[in-house]
Amino acid sequence: MKPFEIAVVGGGASGLFAAAFAAQEANGVGVPVNVSVYEGNARVGKKILVTGNGRCNLTNESMGPEHYRGATDLFQTVYRRFGREETLAFFETAGLFTRSDFAGRVYPMSNQAASVLDTLRSVCGELGVKEVASCKITSLRRQGEGFLLNGAICADRVIVACGGKAAPVHGSDGSGYALLQGLGVKITPLYPALTPLNIDNFTKALKGVRAAGRVTLKSGGSVLAEAAGELQYTDYGLSGIPAMQVSRFAAAKLAEGGEVLAFVDSAPDFTPAELTDRLLAIKKRRPSMTAEAMLAGLMPKRLGTTLIASCSLSPAKEIGGLHDNAVGKIVSAVKRTKYKVRSVRGFADAQVTAGGVAAEAIDGAAMELKNVRGLFVCGEIVDVDGDCGGYNLQWAFSSGAVAGRSAVRSLTNL
Ligand SMILES: Cc1cc2nc3c(=O)[nH]c(=O)nc-3n(C[C@H](O)[C@H](O)[C@H](O)COP(=O)(O)OP(=O)(O)OC[C@H]3O[C@@H](n4cnc5c(N)ncnc54)[C@H](O)[C@@H]3O)c2cc1C
Repeated sequence: MKPFEIAVVGGGASGLFAAAFAAQEANGVGVPVNVSVYEGNARVGKKILVTGNGRCNLTNESMGPEHYRGATDLFQTVYRRFGREETLAFFETAGLFTRSDFAGRVYPMSNQAASVLDTLRSVCGELGVKEVASCKITSLRRQGEGFLLNGAICADRVIVACGGKAAPVHGSDGSGYALLQGLGVKITPLYPALTPLNIDNFTKALKGVRAAGRVTLKSGGSVLAEAAGELQYTDYGLSGIPAMQVSRFAAAKLAEGGEVLAFVDSAPDFTPAELTDRLLAIKKRRPSMTAEAMLAGLMPKRLGTTLIASCSLSPAKEIGGLHDNAVGKIVSAVKRTKYKVRSVRGFADAQVTAGGVAAEAIDGAAMELKNVRGLFVCGEIVDVDGDCGGYNLQWAFSSGAVAGRSAVRSLTNL
């Protein structure tokens, strides 16, 4: 019997998972299937290598739909079929040791993203998956019951795992959407997510400062999103995990023409009353201390100095000479600095794409397109995006495993 051909378009996290699970499924049911991964880059998995600052935060101990946006019902349907436990079992069986940090983020014990990619490639290799690198797929059309790729490659089943438009330097240039749109597949509006915020008239004095902070994003008086963690101040605005977490909400609201404000709390561990009491006590005990020194024990000096200056006070002023109201003003600046968000950084700086293949186009139990049977999708190309913390790779793995298995099952009608 001539083997069936499964073509996986894109050799990122979701494509390699899909390929491995398709090949495994085929072996399990004894159906002859060739699985080939077509990758536009010279090597597969380029983006995996830069994830988690080169350490690859591959999943999280705390999983749930609250960590996802877009098609959250689809996420749940898929995650129930293949979740974090199955993902960790896969890696453990393959010999990859993992560990979690204080925030539940799971990393390879080697602390090297390369270990994750090497593991995926070696599993795929053992299962006979063929890697075809430097092969960008530019056309995809129906041919009989199957498909024709680039006018020359025949496949019985195709899994589109091209990623989105975020970080195109790693290969995901958005070309996957065009392949699917050519077959009439609905794509929801796309915008960058997990990306820094451009702030109006941002003070360059803060460039390079990293400090704890809570960002509350508001529009028209309503809270759009909130996140805490280490904020990074840049020459254009706010970066770091809290700014990136809220960015997709800013992008969506700005796209509607709304105004977006970001309020930064630089002392999230204290209520305003607690902080006021503390500062007034310091003022009483050490009146000759300067205002900037008063904040230096709480936050990086440059941030404290900038916040004091924003209250029209001299950072060099002795605090004994400050009126209690002035201390109140400093507390307000520390607890609630207001910034106007002009825009979010574009896809080049984003970690992930919001929007994508619409949930209503997909049979979630199989990740198969309802109107183009035999065509499967997985990963970031789908309208699912997650928080920082391993959620996007978990989606790539979950949806990849479901798509890979289902592609084989659809061949065998099991
Ligand atoms: C800097 C950075 C850090 C990140 N860190 C984390 C993290 O620690 N944890 C986490 O969960 N998520 C992280 N993410 C997000 C995560 O990496 C992605 O969501 C995930 O890799 C998506 O996997 P994917 O397979 O769907 O797409 P991709 O990883 O983008 O892979 C798609 C692949 O398809 C190829 N391709 C595209 N079009 C074609 C075509 N037409 N023909 C052939 N090949 C094509 C691309 O070259 C690419 O190799 C990070 C992202 C970035 C940019």
